[in-house]
Amino acid sequence: MTTTQLSVVVPCFNEAAVIERFHSAVENVLGPSNLDYEICYVDDGSTDRTPDLIRQLGFADPRVRYVVLSRNFGKESAMLAGLRMSRGQAVVLMDADLQHPPELIPRMLELHARGYDQVVPRRDRAGDGVVRTLLSRGYYALVRHLMDVKVLDGAGDFRLLSRHAVDTVLSLPETNRFSKGIFSWIGFSTATFTYRNAQRLAGSSKWGSRRLLNYGIDGLLSFNNRPLRLAIYTGFWCLLVAVVYATWVVIDVAVHGTAVPGYATLLMVVVALGGVQLITLGVIGEYVGRIYHEVKRRPPFVVQETDEYPSQGPHPSS
Ligand code: UDP
Ligand code: MG
Repeated sequence: MTTTQLSVVVPCFNEAAVIERFHSAVENVLGPSNLDYEICYVDDGSTDRTPDLIRQLGFADPRVRYVVLSRNFGKESAMLAGLRMSRGQAVVLMDADLQHPPELIPRMLELHARGYDQVVPRRDRAGDGVVRTLLSRGYYALVRHLMDVKVLDGAGDFRLLSRHAVDTVLSLPETNRFSKGIFSWIGFSTATFTYRNAQRLAGSSKWGSRRLLNYGIDGLLSFNNRPLRLAIYTGFWCLLVAVVYATWVVIDVAVHGTAVPGYATLLMVVVALGGVQLITLGVIGEYVGRIYHEVKRRPPFVVQETDEYPSQGPHPSS
């Protein structure tokens, strides 16, 4: 039996418009090499023809393996499914929309051969919207302050992982996953290089601003309890300000004798403190929600079909 040297893991959600072009682009890069590789497609509950297309790719090429998830579980789960099915000594995670250029794979393999367990191409932000760039910059600055793990701006999920690193990632038991953090958390020797950002070839991004925001909050909360710390500190500061202000008021009354009508200030303080308390409650609630989610021990995804157990899918007329 030969061992697979490389697995290319590709989460796909409604990528019918690009998947074939993606496939030939990867074949063009890897075909001529005499690498023993496999391409693992994970269909993340697409509603278009994506599952049909990867099924066809699978029939046509024994190096293609796939799983079809039973519904859309999100990219994190799809990546996890792909990592689980991968058998390669090195695994490259990439998007189906050709934003992650397959031409970089040889360079990544080269760095891996030099002993790096993780190879991370970082994209510059050329061509991204100004607002989105600024927001992501700000976010990463915040993340650097709040998180124990280091997440680099522009370093996405596109990366090569050694088998050792993949096994480590898979051994983590949590269901709620924030891969960027996990990849950084596991450590190992990491090489990075920058590449030119490309825009999605066809189809549309699945990350609206709302989804990105939620993803961002997930990222902040899933790695430590620093937001809770922040709540405590905020509490202390408020208390300090209140004590100083109260002292001043008492002295003022003692000296001048009259209390000023404080309706407006009182209202302000009540509203401001109410806001702080609600935010704090929200932060606590998020953590409790996460605990709730984790203790249920549900699997992060459900597999409906694999290349070993193919199905025809529902009949088109039904
Ligand atoms: N994706 C997925 N499940 C989802 C959303 C996205 O598997 O619920 C896949 C998608 O098919 C693509 C990759 O994740 O291969 C990145 O998605 P997208 O290009 O929409 O994100 P962006 O590049 O805009 O960050
Ligand atoms: Mg994309």
